[in-house]
Amino acid sequence: MTSSPSAFSDSETIDDTNSTICESEIQYQTASTRKNRSHTSFFFRVEGDFAYCKICEQNFANTNKKVYGYSQKGGNTTNLISHLRDKHDINKDNYLEYLDEYEEVF
Ligand SMILES: [Zn+2]
Repeated sequence: MTSSPSAFSDSETIDDTNSTICESEIQYQTASTRKNRSHTSFFFRVEGDFAYCKICEQNFANTNKKVYGYSQKGGNTTNLISHLRDKHDINKDNYLEYLDEYEEVF
């Protein structure tokens, strides 16, 4: 019968200060986030805390409809992205087709 000696290894003193793991180095950038600017910024006019769709503004120009203002608090662009996609069929892959040479909506 082997009497197993103490399973404890020597309690080494672990110095955390020398072992900072740098996870942020491994960060794959997708093409869409290359520029830190969302495609929504081309299509929305920001006024105060709200963003207004320029395309809707043009469409509503001769009507008495009001453009819905999306709250910009927190910098969340999810609503804007889905607005462009659902209302105008614009997404990050085709949005350039909707911009003129000045990167303005026409
Ligand atoms: Zn719109």
